Amino acid sequence: MLSDLDQLTFDNTFVRELPADPETRNHRRQVMDGCYSFVQPTSVAAPSLVAYSPEMAEELGLDEALCRSSRFASVFAGNEILAGMEPYAVCYGGHQFGHWAGQLGDGRAINLGHAVTPDGRRLELQLKGAGPTPYSRQADGRAVLRSSVREFLCSEAMHHLGVPTTRALSLVLTGDQVVRDMFYDGRPKAEPGAVVCRVAPNFLRFGNFEIFAARGQHELLQKLGAYALKHSFPHLGEPGPDAYARMFDEVCKRTVDLIVDWTRVGFVHGVMNTDNMSLLGLTIDYGPYGWIDDFDLNWTPNTTDAEFRRYRYGQQPQVALWNLLQLANALYPLVGEADPLEQALERHQRGFQQKMAEMWASKLGLGAHSGEEDDALIQDLHQTLMLTETDMTLFFRGLAGLDEERVLEAGASQQDILKPVSEAYYQPHAAGTHGPALRDWLRRYAQRVRQQELPRAERARRMNAVNPKYVLRNYMAQQAIDASEQGNHALVHELLDVMRRPYDEQPEYQRWASRRPDWARTRAGCSMLSCSS
Ligand code: AMP
Ligand code: MG
Repeated sequence: MLSDLDQLTFDNTFVRELPADPETRNHRRQVMDGCYSFVQPTSVAAPSLVAYSPEMAEELGLDEALCRSSRFASVFAGNEILAGMEPYAVCYGGHQFGHWAGQLGDGRAINLGHAVTPDGRRLELQLKGAGPTPYSRQADGRAVLRSSVREFLCSEAMHHLGVPTTRALSLVLTGDQVVRDMFYDGRPKAEPGAVVCRVAPNFLRFGNFEIFAARGQHELLQKLGAYALKHSFPHLGEPGPDAYARMFDEVCKRTVDLIVDWTRVGFVHGVMNTDNMSLLGLTIDYGPYGWIDDFDLNWTPNTTDAEFRRYRYGQQPQVALWNLLQLANALYPLVGEADPLEQALERHQRGFQQKMAEMWASKLGLGAHSGEEDDALIQDLHQTLMLTETDMTLFFRGLAGLDEERVLEAGASQQDILKPVSEAYYQPHAAGTHGPALRDWLRRYAQRVRQQELPRAERARRMNAVNPKYVLRNYMAQQAIDASEQGNHALVHELLDVMRRPYDEQPEYQRWASRRPDWARTRAGCSMLSCSS
C-alpha cells in the first residue's frame, strides 16, 4: 500500500505512443491532427468526498486513510495534478441512434494518465465532469451529482455482478452548481456538481476507430490499431491484416458476452451509440440506463428513446451487431478485405443465439440447454412473464426455491404451485388470466427439472449464482440521490455495500430485495430517465 498519493506512478502509454493534437489552447474545435488533445481540468470551488470504492482503491494501492484525505478529494476533483499525470481528452466519433454524428470525443472526461498498480498493471484514470475540453461542443464539461451517483454505484455494482465494466474509484462533490434542464422543458435548475474518477485498462470506443476511417485518416487509424493490439490484445501478434481481423473477432466475442450478461441481470444500457461501445467489451458510459423491475422485452429507460425504442431491453443484441458492423467498416482499411470481417459477424450472430439460449437455461437451473424443447420453454416463459407485471429479479430467485415434486403432486392447487414466485407479482398472487398460464408453465418447468435428476439444493445453488438477489434498482439509486443532494451520503455507502455481494442472501439488506414501490412507478429517475446529466 502507498503511504502518500505522490507514490502513485504513471506510465502514460496513450500520450507517449500516439500523436497529439498540436493545438494546446483549450477551445472547442474539430481536432484533425491527433488522437487526443492535452487539456487541464478546470478547478472547482470546494471538493469533498462523497464515496470511494475500497476494492478499486486497493487495486491501485490506496488505503482508506489516503482516500479519506482532503488531498484525495482535491486530486480526484481535478484541482491538483500529481507528478506523472499528463491530462488529455481523446478524439472519437460515433453513430448516435443510427446516424453518423461526426466528431464527439471526451467532452467532459479528462484522462489523467495510466496508473501503474502494485501488481504491475496499467489502469487509465479518467475524471468525468472535470470541465470543458476541445470536444465539449455546446456543453459545459460538467456532470451533476445525480448522474454521478448513478455511474459510481452502477459501475461498481456491475463489477460485483461479474459483468465487464469500467470501474469507479471515487465520487467527489465539486462545491459548484451545474445548471441542467432535466426534462428538456425549458425549466433549467441548478444542481450540485460532481466528478467521478473512472478506471479501466483503456476507454477506447468503437467511435475512436470510426472517426479516423470516416475522415480517411488511415495513418492515425493504423497507429490506434497498433496501440490497441499491443496493449489490449497482445496475444494476437504484430500489427497486420490478420491480427486486425482477429482483433475484430475478439471484440465481437467480448461484445456478445457482455450483452448476454446484461440480459442475464436485467440491465438496459439506454444509449448504445457506437461512441458508448468499448473496444474491450466493457460496460461504458452510464447514462440513462435502467434495471428491469417488471420483465418487459420492450422496455427502454431512456426518455429520448421512448418513441422508437431502439435501445430496448430485448433489442440490445441486434443493436450490438449493428454497432459491430460499424466497427467492421472502420477497421476495413486495416484488414484490406471484407471477407474475414463479414465471417466474424456471421459467426458471432449465431454465437449470440447459442449463448443467449445457454444463459437463459442457466437462469432456469438447467444443466445443459437441450435444443428446441428448452427454447420453447424459454420463449413461453418470456411470454408468460409479460402477461402481467412481474419482477424479473424476484421471479428467478423465487424459482430457485421451487419444489418440483410438490408442483407435480396430483392435488396441488394453483396457489400452491405459484407460491415460490408470488413475491415477484405486482398484483397479489398472480390474479387474473395469467395465473393459469403461469401455473401451466411452472408444471412444464417442474417436469423438465425432474428429468435432469439434479438434487434440488444443487439446482438452487447454481441458479442463485447467476440470478442476483440484489440489483441496483432504479428507485434505489434515486433514493440515494435524493438523500445525497440533501447532504446525507449514507445511502450511497449502504447501496455500495449491498451491491458488493449481490448473489448472497444478506438478510440484513432484505429490504433492498423487494419490488419497486408504488411511488417509484412514475417518478423520474425511477421509471424513465433523461439523458440530461
Ligand atoms: P453521452 O451521450 O453521455 O455518451 O455523450 C455523448 C457526447 O456528448 C460525448 O462526446 C460527451 O463527451 C458529450 N457530452 C455529454 N455531456 C456533456 C457535457 N456536459 N459537457 C461536454 N460534453 C458533454
Ligand atoms: Mg458517451
